[in-house]
Amino acid sequence: MQGLNTESLKKFKTNAKKKGFAQNIVSASELGLDLSSLSKAAVQVVSTLQKHKFKAYLVGGCIRDLLLGKKPKDFDVSTDATPEQVHRIFSNSRIIGRRFKIVHVVFSGQNIIEVTTFRSNSTAKKGKVNPTRVSAESGMLLRDNVYGKSIVEDSQRRDFTINALYLDPVKKEIYDYNGGLYDMQKGIIDIIGDPDTRYSEDPVRMIRALRFSAKLGFKLSKRTSDPIKRLSALLLEVSNARMFEEVNKLFITGHGYNSFKILRKYNIFELLFPDAGDFLDNKSYIDFVEYALSSSDKRYAENKRNMPHFLYSVILWGVFQNNVFRLRRYSESMVSPMEDNDIVRLALDSVFDNQDKVTDIPMAVSDSIKSLWRMQLVLQQIELLKDYDEVSNRTIFRAAFDFISLRAKFEPYLATCVNFWQPYYVKSAAIAAKRKALKDQKYQQKFSNKKKSKKQKGPKNPATEGFEDETNLSAKRKEQLAKAKAWRASMNLGN
Ligand code: ATP
Ligand code: MG
Repeated sequence: MQGLNTESLKKFKTNAKKKGFAQNIVSASELGLDLSSLSKAAVQVVSTLQKHKFKAYLVGGCIRDLLLGKKPKDFDVSTDATPEQVHRIFSNSRIIGRRFKIVHVVFSGQNIIEVTTFRSNSTAKKGKVNPTRVSAESGMLLRDNVYGKSIVEDSQRRDFTINALYLDPVKKEIYDYNGGLYDMQKGIIDIIGDPDTRYSEDPVRMIRALRFSAKLGFKLSKRTSDPIKRLSALLLEVSNARMFEEVNKLFITGHGYNSFKILRKYNIFELLFPDAGDFLDNKSYIDFVEYALSSSDKRYAENKRNMPHFLYSVILWGVFQNNVFRLRRYSESMVSPMEDNDIVRLALDSVFDNQDKVTDIPMAVSDSIKSLWRMQLVLQQIELLKDYDEVSNRTIFRAAFDFISLRAKFEPYLATCVNFWQPYYVKSAAIAAKRKALKDQKYQQKFSNKKKSKKQKGPKNPATEGFEDETNLSAKRKEQLAKAKAWRASMNLGN
């Protein structure tokens, strides 16, 4: 991070510690921040809120990543407007969430700007129930919609100092109340507030600390890392759906290899994957997972998407294989041994029954994993198959081939199998590429036809736009249209 020198940043940090959230303002240019890479939509949301006399800033990961010269994944806005007020200002918005109410302002495509209302630390007075903040016995917050008035208050509710930097893109200023800029320069992840309390309120913060360390290559401060091993069991109280999302963020967004390492260091991998945890002293399992994760990190760096089913296929493959092996041995000792199909089904069910206790794997994902694993068994039985083309035409074939090629690096006996299926893979990939090109072409054509017909229709008339041709309409419909037109006229949209 360029910009301010370490000494002046250190003063910020000491100020924050001594005086408690002292205000430190730095101009964006002083930090060498390139504001041209800000999302236009996010800046528009901030300036619109400010025009409506609300306070509004960009906050969190986007500032952190910009300061590090990385491309932000998403842009978050923080404001003193309530979710309902934000929703009223932006017609293209929706309120979501229960634990934390937030507003999504939706722009074209997948461009969503998340707007959160300032949070406050204030709790209910003794003996009074505060319905907007509800916690479980463990201290975990189940709902937290206590709104604050300022960014100072809001910054205390954020997780780490480096995630609590605010940017006003209109004034072009950065606000730091927790010594985040100093920690940025030192490469440190430091939790805000009392670590035990903050982790108990939301155990996911422990995983977030490790994730940011893996992603940014930053170290955890001692106070941030010390309680993790002691409190990690609290993670089991977090909802399985949220855990599924968190695990994806750990592993499929470009730093999976580092995440795997740091999770093992804090004994958290075995909490996230209890059955796979049994393999952590098996070198070939570690090598296999590390190799697969670094390949998917490379894919991410090349702007390719990584899918959750691939991640779980890799991590849980050993568990599935082990289940099959044990069930086969058990079956052999039975008077009437089980069918192999039943063995595979039981082995699969057992993997997912156990893993679902921690991460709620959506059905579409588990179905893909099951097909991919079943295909491993098919691809290995070349001599029993009759129709190779039929196998290579199956949707899951190419993913299954990629997976068996990966395995072959650690299980050399699979090389013949990989060599056998290689030409089928090439053929299947060529067909898929052709299909995609055709689809793209059709899409382009449809798009340009739409454009042409818009041009032919001429410029839009706001007074009539959206109204249908009235010649053949029923009397009732005509009456409805007349009312709509009158409304548009009263709104100055024409007659
Ligand atoms: P990235 O999006 O790159 O994963 P991020 O820091 O933007 O990282 P988000 O999950 O998008 O992470 O959250 C946005 C901001 O909200 C964070 O920077 C942080 O200030 C705050 N935040 C998110 N989760 C928590 C949490 N569990 N506890 C406290 N603050 C949080
Ligand atoms: Mg973010």
